[in-house]
Amino acid sequence: MATSGNLFILSAPSGAGKSSLISALLKQQSERPMQVSVSHTTRSPRPGEENGKHYHFVSVDEFKRQINNNHFYEWAEVFGNYYGTSAVAIDEQLEKGIDVFLDIDWQGAQQVRMKRPDVTTIFISPPSKAELEQRLRSRGQDSEEVIQGRMAQARSECSHYQEFDYIIVNDDFEQALADLTTIVNNQRLKRSQQMQKHQLLFDQLLAND
Ligand code: 5GP
Repeated sequence: MATSGNLFILSAPSGAGKSSLISALLKQQSERPMQVSVSHTTRSPRPGEENGKHYHFVSVDEFKRQINNNHFYEWAEVFGNYYGTSAVAIDEQLEKGIDVFLDIDWQGAQQVRMKRPDVTTIFISPPSKAELEQRLRSRGQDSEEVIQGRMAQARSECSHYQEFDYIIVNDDFEQALADLTTIVNNQRLKRSQQMQKHQLLFDQLLAND
């Protein structure tokens, strides 16, 4: 039996450093089969965004058809556009033995958890409220109102931290990356995974010669 991949969800308030951590993990473990899931969306591509790389850009009709066909593990309407995680694409990758990372919020995480109880969920937290605010402020020339809106959104995301299997506090980036690597490796070493991977070994060890 081929080893199937592991499914992970990473959630965090914006400013916690989640995207940098996922990129660093994939780069560090480039010899291992790992991918970040590419979501479907009905919004238009922004300059520089590529279809199939940043998102799968689809029409509203196409998206609704896929909802009706149970194509998504989770979907949501955000700022008037639809976003969703394709179950078909993820299942295909997992079957090939690829570990798949979903970069989605707590609402998406709740939906996926119901359909895939085997998912490993990780919450990335900023080290403090002051640091989070500083990171959000350093992003650009946003008005006080926009900053406060983002802080409120971050509070809402953080209020769900107890629903996750693991919590990483991203204070020191290298430590946070080491923590994330430990979680991923831990999952790969679980009995169910090892049994699939080393079935021949155990058959051999248990055989009566
Ligand atoms: P943007 O349009 O700026 O790329 O994303 C807008 C929002 O949609 C972000 O909060 C992002 O996390 C969310 N989003 C992106 N992809 C998905 C997805 O597959 N599912 C859900 N539920 N939200 C998503």
